[in-house]
This record gives sequence, structure tokens and C-alpha cells, in this order.
Amino acid sequence: MPKFEYAPAPESRAIVRIEKSYGLFIDGAFTRPKATFPTINPADETVLAEVSQAGPKDVDKAVAAARRAYEGVWGRMSGAERGKYLFRIARILQERAREFAVLETLDNGKPIKETRDVDVPIAAAHFFYHAGWADKLEYAGLSASGADVPRPHGVVGQVIPWNFPLLMLAWKIAPALATGNTVVLKPAETTPLTALLFAEVCQQADLPAGVVNIVTGDGRTGQALVEHPDVDKIAFTGSTEVGKAIARSIAGTSKKATLELGGKAANIVFDDAPIDQAVEGIIGGIFFNQGQVCCAGSRLLVQENVHDQVVAKLKRRLATLRVGDPMDKNSDLGAINSKAQLDRITSLVEAGVAEGAERWSPECALPAKGYWFPPTVLTGVSQTHRVATEEIFGPVLSVLTFRTPQEAVAKANNTAYGLSAGVWTEKGSRILWMADQLRAGVVWANTFNRFDPTSPFGGYKESGYGREGGRHGLEAYVTTAPATLTGAVR
Ligand code: NAD
Repeated sequence: MPKFEYAPAPESRAIVRIEKSYGLFIDGAFTRPKATFPTINPADETVLAEVSQAGPKDVDKAVAAARRAYEGVWGRMSGAERGKYLFRIARILQERAREFAVLETLDNGKPIKETRDVDVPIAAAHFFYHAGWADKLEYAGLSASGADVPRPHGVVGQVIPWNFPLLMLAWKIAPALATGNTVVLKPAETTPLTALLFAEVCQQADLPAGVVNIVTGDGRTGQALVEHPDVDKIAFTGSTEVGKAIARSIAGTSKKATLELGGKAANIVFDDAPIDQAVEGIIGGIFFNQGQVCCAGSRLLVQENVHDQVVAKLKRRLATLRVGDPMDKNSDLGAINSKAQLDRITSLVEAGVAEGAERWSPECALPAKGYWFPPTVLTGVSQTHRVATEEIFGPVLSVLTFRTPQEAVAKANNTAYGLSAGVWTEKGSRILWMADQLRAGVVWANTFNRFDPTSPFGGYKESGYGREGGRHGLEAYVTTAPATLTGAVR
């Protein structure tokens, strides 16, 4: 196989100004930094900035600011007016797209071509999409009787993970604001910087103070937010373990919750599939964002008679992927987000090998500094192996085989999760039958990892409950309970 050499094509980081330290964004302004901890660039382990660990008192201030903004301004504003702010935010995100892409790549470790072409454009698209809904909620068929005007909950507490920091923020904040709620959002401790830049966007858009508040910190900050008595609704994306703890902690309260949790998607390839396209889909499905994707196609189920052909083509294609500097526009895979995540991936892969799986990676020189894991294929995996049942959340594909469609369905559904699945076949009737049988919130056919704000996303079983995106995503942010404010949302 010939090796291609590329000249480095690094994106410049000069476009973004990173402060030495950051406070919290409460009531429309930044607080003085205190009790800070570093956020680092996982590609080279350098410190990017210091951010503040918000304690319970800070969370209290943020929730109080959100309550004031809800009661005083946002909860009384017309949908058409709210929509203008969302449009403004969407346009500013587009105008500052390069800045956001560079900052996200530095803080997260994902390749610049992904932040530039996926994370930032889809984040802006979510604000555009929800801006359009803001003055049309009564036509969205959201109320049980069909007659009432849907109303916001009030103050929403939102906690998000590190794998798509800005995109998850957009998935959370855009529908909350469109429906008239105010927000306190906590980004993940390893990726707070784009949320803090977003706070600047809120100022630039003249969003009324307190409508969006950003509190940084670790799980303790998240817990203080979730347990705050004046928060009306929780929206959480993260691990199933923390999701369960949150569900337990709010049980018996009047708080509403949506939980978007882990996944272990099957990508199912039948022998009549266009194999070359399927190989591209398998690669995109598991190596996009270094596999740190809740809906990653981490289990390849391939029909037995094409197993050898698919695996051979997969390995050939994998050998052409470029792993390295995330800021280089040629890089296909970047760094793993943290040392803790790298350790988790490494130990699970070692467990898979100990259980009998065969491990393969293409030749690739990994940078000496930073957190790196090569794209990896595990063959000979059986259903009981930990690498087939547990979420690895890394660039690791487990390969299993099946003979009949029934067996494919049984194996695909044999998981505690139910977030997504992929089906590759040329038969439309089989796609429909499979989609009906698979217990997954999203089923992609002859494609994978397609995201659009109009399309609801969410899980079954231990992948959580509630949907984000589309008309369904709005449901979580409204209630038909009697108004607590005069001037209910319109
Ligand atoms: P995590 O659950 O450890 O952390 C997620 C967020 O929760 C972070 O901001 C963290 O600080 C906070 N947190 C931790 N403990 C908390 C507590 N007790 N109370 C409140 N908040 C707390 O998850 P992670 O490792 O950051 O993210 C990876 C996980 O997220 C994976 O399991 C992945 O599948 C899942 N994920 C799911 C989706 C989806 O849409 N279903 C999307 C992206 C990621």
C-alpha cells in the first residue's frame, strides 16, 4: 500500500483569544475567577486556561438570576420577540464559526475539520431551527387537549458532557429559550471554553441578563444544580451511571427531566449491501470524534459470508486514515479528550483481548505528548465479551457475525442500551422490517451519524428518555399546567 505524505496544514489559533482565567457567567456578566482549576489541550497536555469551580452558593445565584429573568422578562415576552434573539445568536455563531471551531478543537482534541464542518454549523442550525418555532408553539400540537397554549416550565438546569461541548449546549439551550424557559447550564469540566465563549455571544446578542447562565465545575456543581429546589426541569446528557443517580435524586419532587445517556449501537451489514459504501459508513460510524460518540456504531454485525471481505476492506481503508495534530486540516482522528478516558479505553481493550478477541490497528505513529489511541478493530468478539456489552467510548470497533436477519436483530437488541443502529442492505423492505424490530431511538439506513435539528434524537432502555430536536424535542420544555405568569408564552 503506498504511503502518501502531506505537508502539514495547521489551522491558526490566532483567531481566538483565550483568557488566563475565567469566572462564571451569571446575570449577564462574568464573575471574578475563584477556586480555579485548569482546562488543558489533550493533544499536547498544555494548560489553556483556568476556570472556576462553582460551589452551591454560586449555583444559587445563577438559579436566582434565571428565576428573575423568567418572571421579569423572558417568560412574558412574545414568541416572535424571543425568536429574534435566537436568530441573532444563530447568526453570531455563524459569523464567529472559525473562532468556535478552533477553540473547540483546542479544548476537546477533536480534528478541526470536524469542529469546522460538523459541530459549529449544526450548533448554529439548532438556533435557526428553534428560532422558527418560538412564535408557532401553539401550532406544534404540544398540548394534550390540542386547545391549550403550551407554557414554559420556568428555570431549566442543564448538564452536558465533553464529547460535543458546543453542540450539546445548542441542543439544550436553543429549545429551552424558544419555549420561554431560562437556563443555568453546566458544561463538562474538561471542555468549558466554548460555553464561556457562548456567554460572550449572549452578551453580543443583547440577550436579557439572566436568561442564560453558565456555571463551570465538576460533578459536584452538576449535583448542586440538579438538586436546587428552585429548578423546574433538568436536562442531562452524559453517562448512564450519572443519569441514574440524577433520576434517583429528583424522584418524588415535581421536577421534570430528560436524560440522554450512553449507547452501544449495532451497525449491521447484510451481504447484499454496497460494501465499499458500507465500509465508509462503518468508519464514519466509529471513528468520527475518536469514537467518543453516544450513538457510535461500536458493534459491527456483519453477515457471515461477507465477513472476510468486509474486514479486509475495512483494514485497507483504515490504513489511510491520518491520526495526529487535531489543528491540522488533514487529520482524520485527533486526541482522546482526557487521561481518564484514555485509561478507560485502554483497560477495556485489554479486557477484550484477555477474553479472546483479536486486536488490530494500522501502523501509525502517535504523538509523544497528549492522549492518543490508534484506530482499533477487534475481531472474533462474542456477545458476552465486555467489549460487546460495555460502552468503550473510543476509536475501537468490535466485530461480530450473524447469518439471518432474525439473528442480526436478536444480537443488535442484546444490549442494555437503545440509542441508535445502522442497517446496510439494498432491500427497502428489509430496512423497514429491521427498523421496526430494532429497539433503538434512531435507525439509519445505508448511512450513519446523520444529525439534523428537525429530527428527534433519543433513546430506549438505559439510553435514557425524552427526545432532542424536532417537534418532539420541544415537548420536554413545555407544560399545559396552568400559567404561573400572566402573559403566557405565545
Ligand atoms: P458523565 O456522566 O461523567 O458527565 C456528564 C456531565 O455530568 C458532566 O458535566 C459532569 O460534570 C456531570 N456530572 C457528573 N456527576 C454528576 C452528578 N452526580 N450530578 C450531576 N452532574 C454530574 O459523562 P461524560 O463522561 O462526560 O460523557 C460521556 C457519556 O455521555 C457517555 O456515556 C455518552 O454515551 C454520553 N452521551 C450521551 C449522549 C446522548 O445524546 N444520549 C450524547 C453525548 C454523550
